[in-house]
Amino acid sequence: PPLAEMHPVKALFKIPRWRQLTQHWDFEARPSVTHLLEHPFIKQAHGKDVALSQQLATLIREQQNVGCKTKTKHERINTRKTLIIESCPDDDLVNLEFLDEETIISHLQKRYDELQVYTYVGDILIALNPFQNLSIYSPQFSKLYHGVKRADNPPHIFATADAAYQGMVTFCKDQCIIISGESGAGKTESAHLIVQHLTFLGKANNRTLREKILQVNPLVEAFGNACTAINDNSSRFGKYLEMKFTPTGAVMGAKISEYLLEKSRVIKQAAGEKNFHIFYYIYAGLYHEDKLKNYRLPDKTPPRYIDSQHCKVMQDIVSSKLYKEQFDAIQDCFRIIGFTEEEVNSVYRILSAILNTGNIEFTAITSQHQTDKSEVPNSEALENAASLLSIGSEELQEALTSHCVVTRGETIIRTNTVDKATDVRDAMSKALYGRLFSWIVNRINSLGKHDAAESGMNVGILDIFGFENFKKNSFEQLCINIANEQIQFYFNQHIFALEQMEYQSEGVDASLVEYEDNRPILDMFLQKPMGLLSLLDEESRFPQATDQTLVDKFEDNLRCKYFWIPKRVELCFGIQHYAGKVLYNVNGFLEKNRDTLPADIVVVLRTSENKLLQQLFSSPLTKTGGRCLACFCVQYVHFVNACVQVDTMEMMRHPEETTNMRRQTVASYFRYSLMDLLSKMVVGQPHFVRCIKPNDDRQALRFNKDRVMVQLRYTGILETVNIRRQGYSHRILFEDFVNRYYYLAFRAHQMPEISKENAVAILKQAKLEKWVLGKTKVFLKYYHVEQLNLLLREVI
Ligand code: ADP
Ligand code: MG
Repeated sequence: PPLAEMHPVKALFKIPRWRQLTQHWDFEARPSVTHLLEHPFIKQAHGKDVALSQQLATLIREQQNVGCKTKTKHERINTRKTLIIESCPDDDLVNLEFLDEETIISHLQKRYDELQVYTYVGDILIALNPFQNLSIYSPQFSKLYHGVKRADNPPHIFATADAAYQGMVTFCKDQCIIISGESGAGKTESAHLIVQHLTFLGKANNRTLREKILQVNPLVEAFGNACTAINDNSSRFGKYLEMKFTPTGAVMGAKISEYLLEKSRVIKQAAGEKNFHIFYYIYAGLYHEDKLKNYRLPDKTPPRYIDSQHCKVMQDIVSSKLYKEQFDAIQDCFRIIGFTEEEVNSVYRILSAILNTGNIEFTAITSQHQTDKSEVPNSEALENAASLLSIGSEELQEALTSHCVVTRGETIIRTNTVDKATDVRDAMSKALYGRLFSWIVNRINSLGKHDAAESGMNVGILDIFGFENFKKNSFEQLCINIANEQIQFYFNQHIFALEQMEYQSEGVDASLVEYEDNRPILDMFLQKPMGLLSLLDEESRFPQATDQTLVDKFEDNLRCKYFWIPKRVELCFGIQHYAGKVLYNVNGFLEKNRDTLPADIVVVLRTSENKLLQQLFSSPLTKTGGRCLACFCVQYVHFVNACVQVDTMEMMRHPEETTNMRRQTVASYFRYSLMDLLSKMVVGQPHFVRCIKPNDDRQALRFNKDRVMVQLRYTGILETVNIRRQGYSHRILFEDFVNRYYYLAFRAHQMPEISKENAVAILKQAKLEKWVLGKTKVFLKYYHVEQLNLLLREVI
């Protein structure tokens, strides 16, 4: 029958979304129809179909009246509870009666089909990428998720932000929100939404401050994000944004830390991929302002660094409306955050210089005496680059085509082959870009400083590149995947530590459930002196080392079931990551790890008259000022052993080591970054957001079961649910337990006293076995709850 003719309660429960919403509402309150219609979720659900909305609202009212008229208050409450049991709240997977993979997947699918992209697993938020704009992020929704109980509203990314904010204000404790997931799963979008909601919660009334904070992400992402095969706006760096608040919870400012920018993208991009966004933005922007000439950018053929496809990209770039708009937006970001015009101009000059540098070509000079010399046949690009960098073009050419060697106190000038000169050129571009990026991040932080006093608390948001497994995986993928291993480790520790704590505090003796511990893999990567990164560092110190010697070294030293050398593929090694098997090609590993920038280049860049450029190269060559490697390793081992808690943090706050390291490799810097990041994370109360990509085609409403299953498995979601299944998945306060199930042992109209004994009476009457009593809660296995609910249905 049509909805209107059905019994109101039945009708209501025919509609999943409504079932969801109404079960949490206060039936006593009896909101008016108008009020109901104003409810954001109703608006969003049936906003367009006014008639249906009206009808549904009336249905709800009728249902409430049924509840009110016919029963006593006590009965009404129980009716409501029964309804809840009947409809089984499905916004938390942990509440599901059946906890097998198939049920969980079907559940997520059902929710996804209804555009419920968020679901809880206990305190973890699962976020399925909707691949379409949802109207659930408006200020109205922000208001809905403000200091409320989680169960009051459907799951939402705002709820996670609110939980972190409340946790910070209530317990005066720093919080961190860790967002993970594959590339394109929605991490960066989630991070934006969290910042948006935190700005709302922190009542950034001061408009300038609010705007400033909201501009930070777009600005940094213009320089750090790029179009990849998987995601048009893929973050090519890890980002930790700390929102700072006063002790009363008013937002004061934001600080950003960046990790592991993929610098190699500046000089080369894989087929179908692009360089960092900013290059295209300035091209389109400067073209429109007719300023390409000022920045010495060619207007006919695109510079090599941004012309990966060698097609008629030029027209696409300069005529792109999107790029032009983005350029304008970036100009605004710079201005709002507080960069001076001179600084912005310098940034553009350096970017243009990088593009010109990429166009410098070399040819071999072969005379009788010298065969390994190179020169620059066409000096236009060279002169452009030199002029933009405010250095001499001859000096630049010198530095590119030759290098100084100091032997026995004597300085000898050696010439560079064409290949070598090309490498030096690209190394210079990468260094320029990498340092420019760090400078921008630091500048943003220093500009925000006067807003943010030292005291106060913060909520950190970690948006780190997701696990990657391409056809060809290189050094960058290795670093990214190690970082993800580390995050996974942290996740495991947190989930399992919490579990243990609850058992202990309730005095319940339960051995912990086995789980996939990825510590052995992490050890294999990070241990000293025989971990993979250490071996790589060692090999990088030998000038004669080759790809083959590196693979041999790995093979000889890494004895671990997570590592293998494939027989048929050359110069490769395989790793069994927590998220799957990945084959790495070692080609270029050594060079990428050394990341050498010849001293000759540094010397010439330091002669620049450009203030910004001087700053970029005035600091010591290493970003960290050199930290002792051994020190990191000690910290790492302590971290693993101490598992997240306080003494670890003390370890992490190890005073800056000033031990002079000979040279810092990418691997060692990376190891440092990881430690730095972890030290920030462990001081806060963590909240996890697991982003899931429902399909690989970026299509809305398409749910690929297998793909989702794989992600749920390796992120440990299924395990998390499993822990609760194998352990005592349900811990119910005696009060709630007796309230809910007393029908089973007592007469319906005789609500018994709330006590441990009565809880036991119910459990015995229901003939359940293997339950455990804690101090305040009944500990039940998932199937106990199923049995209880079944019995309850028979009784009512
Ligand atoms: P990641 O950072 O995990 O690589 P992104 O956050 O960049 O992924 O998301 C990839 C794309 O997915 C976005 O560009 C956007 O089109 C879409 N997307 C992600 N989250 C949402 C969301 N909450 N609402 C709408 N679209 C989204
Ligand atoms: Mg991203």
